[in-house]
Amino acid sequence: MNPSSEARPTSSDWTQLAGAIAGELHTGDLMRRIYSTDASAYQEMPSAVAIPKSDQDIATLIGFAKKHRIGLIPRTAGTSLAGQVVGGGIVVDVSRHFTRILEVNTDEGWVRVQPGVIRNELNAHLEPFGFWFAPETSTQNRAMIGGMVGNNSCGSNSIKFGSTRDHLLAVSGFLSDGSKVEFSEMTTSRFAEKCENQSTLEGRLYHHTRDRLSDSAVREEITREFPKSSIRRRNTGYALDLLMDADVFGQSQDTDSNKDSSLSADARANEASGTTAKPFNFCRLIAGSEGTLFFATEIKLRILPLRPPCSGLMCVHFRSVEEALSATLIAVQHDIDACELIDEVILNCTRRSIEHRQNRFFIEGDPAAILVTEVRGQTEDEVRVTTDRIADEMKAAGLGYHFPVLFGDQGNRVWDLRKAGLGLLGNIPGDEKTVPVIEDTAVDVRDLPAYIAEVNACLRKQFGLECVQYAHAGSGEIHLRPIINLKTAEGKLLFRQVASEVAAIVKKYRGSLSGEHGDGRLRGEFLRQMIGEQNYSLVREFKRVWDPDGIFNPGKIVDTPSMNTSLRYEPGQKTEESIETVFDFSANQGLLRAAEMCNGSGDCRKTHLTGGVMCPSYMATRNEKDATRARANTLRQILTTSQKLNPFDSEEIKEVMDLCLSCKGCQSECPSTVDMGKMKAEFLQHYYDANGVPRRAQMVANFVKIQSLLGMAPAVVNGFMSVPLIRRTVNRLLGFHPKRSIPKVARQTFRRWFERREQKFPGAGSNRRRVHIFADEFTDHVEPEIGIALVRLAETLGYEVSLPDHVESGRSSLSKGLLRDAKEIARKNVEMLMDVVTEDAPLIGIEPSAILSFRDEYPQLVGDDLKERAELLATRCLLFDEWLEQEMDSGRVTSDAFDHTPRTILVHGHCHQKTLSSLQPTMRVLELPSQTTASQIRSGCCGMAGAFGYEREHYGVSMQIGELVLLPAVREADTDTLIAAAGTSCRHQILDGTGRRALHPIEILADALVPIGDR
Ligand SMILES: Cc1cc2nc3c(=O)[nH]c(=O)nc-3n(C[C@H](O)[C@H](O)[C@H](O)COP(=O)(O)OP(=O)(O)OC[C@H]3O[C@@H](n4cnc5c(N)ncnc54)[C@H](O)[C@@H]3O)c2cc1C
Ligand code: SF4
Ligand code: SF4
Repeated sequence: MNPSSEARPTSSDWTQLAGAIAGELHTGDLMRRIYSTDASAYQEMPSAVAIPKSDQDIATLIGFAKKHRIGLIPRTAGTSLAGQVVGGGIVVDVSRHFTRILEVNTDEGWVRVQPGVIRNELNAHLEPFGFWFAPETSTQNRAMIGGMVGNNSCGSNSIKFGSTRDHLLAVSGFLSDGSKVEFSEMTTSRFAEKCENQSTLEGRLYHHTRDRLSDSAVREEITREFPKSSIRRRNTGYALDLLMDADVFGQSQDTDSNKDSSLSADARANEASGTTAKPFNFCRLIAGSEGTLFFATEIKLRILPLRPPCSGLMCVHFRSVEEALSATLIAVQHDIDACELIDEVILNCTRRSIEHRQNRFFIEGDPAAILVTEVRGQTEDEVRVTTDRIADEMKAAGLGYHFPVLFGDQGNRVWDLRKAGLGLLGNIPGDEKTVPVIEDTAVDVRDLPAYIAEVNACLRKQFGLECVQYAHAGSGEIHLRPIINLKTAEGKLLFRQVASEVAAIVKKYRGSLSGEHGDGRLRGEFLRQMIGEQNYSLVREFKRVWDPDGIFNPGKIVDTPSMNTSLRYEPGQKTEESIETVFDFSANQGLLRAAEMCNGSGDCRKTHLTGGVMCPSYMATRNEKDATRARANTLRQILTTSQKLNPFDSEEIKEVMDLCLSCKGCQSECPSTVDMGKMKAEFLQHYYDANGVPRRAQMVANFVKIQSLLGMAPAVVNGFMSVPLIRRTVNRLLGFHPKRSIPKVARQTFRRWFERREQKFPGAGSNRRRVHIFADEFTDHVEPEIGIALVRLAETLGYEVSLPDHVESGRSSLSKGLLRDAKEIARKNVEMLMDVVTEDAPLIGIEPSAILSFRDEYPQLVGDDLKERAELLATRCLLFDEWLEQEMDSGRVTSDAFDHTPRTILVHGHCHQKTLSSLQPTMRVLELPSQTTASQIRSGCCGMAGAFGYEREHYGVSMQIGELVLLPAVREADTDTLIAAAGTSCRHQILDGTGRRALHPIEILADALVPIGDR
């Protein structure tokens, strides 16, 4: 809806509104850009973004919207795939302040929450009570209850537990006139009372509903035209078919779908006592209404006792998708919790993902499809009774060739792989993308094989398209994703043609065009075709009665704009950057396309409670602006629209990048491998080109020069800096936070010690193998004792150790965006080391962020002439623990070299290591001494990230990140527990945040060595 010109808000109206709400109102370009997309193909600049703090704020926003005839778009995590939260009105983000779990009632089996509660966090809260909220989405670690209700979400387990609607007991919130109401189950007499009060909008809604849904002609038309009731997941239009199935209309129908679990215990009791068997509840309509009818502020959900604890996943491998679909019909005859398809396109995508590559462990051969069937029981044996039966039946039917059943962590990893599917598809470089357009159709499961065959034949014949196929086979829903280039006029047309052809096939099977993702602005256009002209008019009538001014999420479900308008990409839009990059982005076909890899899946909005590294700044602030997605969207939009010769000369990009810690979390955890750390560095270099390099950045990048100078009089420097007033003053002058401690300058660098030492440690060279140590700048100048410990460790274990000539790693320049300097450094290191380091004599690193530069940045930085050499060298550069693990596996290093002193170690992993390698080697090598137990702190980033945490303006966020998991875990650890952290920044953060000194794993292992003579 566009505001009419006389009602259009003026800037003073906006200012007044901002003053009238306790929360935030943003009318500037940056926030509007960030909120102009979701996980769909759409993009439209909203007029404003509001982040309300209270119910009163929402009431004020509704009043404003009515007055100015402007839309309000309720939004939680913004992971919708049909453009539900994209529009020109005011986006109202309730994900920041409406996040409370208000009440849990286990006796009656319900929970009351605000809309911004994340589904998985709700279940983490409920678990100790022995309960859970069943519906799930693949996005369950960030999708919020408000959005799940809005979209009537469901997931793999819908086969057993239905969708959110089936568990929605009551909602409170606002009607479009600003009145506050609650909808819940009610008796016939209560319903009649409600219908009488026509002086309120609420009363008129009841009255209108009774009027229309009691009409037998209307009911017949709905029954005839709506999707088959046997389809459990159906999100086509408003759920009038379900709403009308209540006793209040006097003629309810006994459809399969309505005999389901959606009746509460009360209703069932009523049913038994002959009162109201099918109570009326507007919640049935609200669920799936996509914020177009009602603004929810409190949601009451049914919760269920936890499921049997043992989950077994049978992952049957097939030679074709058709075979898998036939097998689905066997699986669904059994008591299963889920039955999910993964096709070979997805399986291939997982090869390219650093994170999901590790989850392919169960795959045998080259299957064209895998059907994952979940069975639950009290024990593995109980599960196997059912899985064996299913496998026998499939084998008897000649279906499938491999039938592994996985439990526990292995099962979780298969789920991770399956859930990553949609996001991973965004991982295809270039302009052709798998687009969400027909990804959500659902049919009766018995129709599925024929339906899929027909869709595939049609797409192949009509358009020469092949589809990716995966997901909820057991519920009759396969996510189909064709690959289309929306940057061309033909692609844009194809987008519509494909949708239209498939809509016709869905209608033929009386299926649902949306099974779970909703109509939004993508499928609304086909609603008339899907439910017939009369029903479409009825749906529009409901919208008009509920929202006469059209302020609630206009243009979704009904009266939607044309489905191929307002797309992220427009034909003819700029697709190449106008400026030469320092990094080689050719693997992504340029930096712009690298930013375009973000499809909005929102994985970067997960929180510390669900784990992982990405994205620490969002985890701390819970502000959409600080998520990777916001950065990618801003980059993409500015690079495609800027008229400047240097488009990176942008304050907007600078602002959105400000809290990026360059932790690299996104590189492995973003399913589309959006590598924001690299893009930030590239941006900074070009921004500096236009605006000059700030003094502080220069100073940080010149770490080695400064340390060398200070190292000329270490005692004096350390003495001065130990005086708090001096330290605080120096920090202030340098732009650092006064509370930060400053590491001591070493009396002697590591290299100097190495070159001057008179004798090696006993054992050196005894196994005739050699290692080169990379004397990174942090070890060299600040913590030489760790380098010395590594020499002692390696030599005592029998290795010949060398310290080859090289320069610093360039990490400081990289982190500050001085990329051309970093390039020179990288080139020097590659030239100096490429002939020295060999497969048998690798280069091993102490500081993860330094040695991993060889593997991550150097090959893309050194230039074409050195690229191949850099790539080869990268394969020979190892973290010290990766090297030691290799030596353990080869039998050259054993526990015999270490003592038997009992030790308990808590390990915090460096982000770069977790992203580019793994913490597994650290955990293994730390347990080389036989009496040592090491466990991992479930921390993400420590928050320090090089100089980030020192910087005055970033100190607060840095500590906030540290306080999420790491610092409390360290404080809670026993005093005799050792804290291990390989990163110099991480150790510093732990020291500043807890006062405890963390050790490098090298120090712990060197301490545990048994002198050669004593073994
Ligand atoms: C990779 C990927 C996988 C997905 N897999 C699934 C899946 O398995 N199953 C599934 O169902 N969906 C899936 N989705 C779609 C989406 O994640 C879900 O629909 C999710 O539940 C939306 O939650 P959200 O918090 O992101 O909601 P949003 O996108 O923010 O909002 C969703 C709708 O709810 C409305 N809304 C939000 N808050 C309120 C409120 N307070 N009052 C009224 N209306 C409100 C919004 O206006 C909007 O119409 C997937 C999406 C992606 C990107
Ligand atoms: S950055 Fe990655 S995780 Fe975040 S929304 Fe984009 S694609 Fe998804
Ligand atoms: S590098 Fe780290 S902080 Fe920056 S966007 Fe990626 S995950 Fe977020």
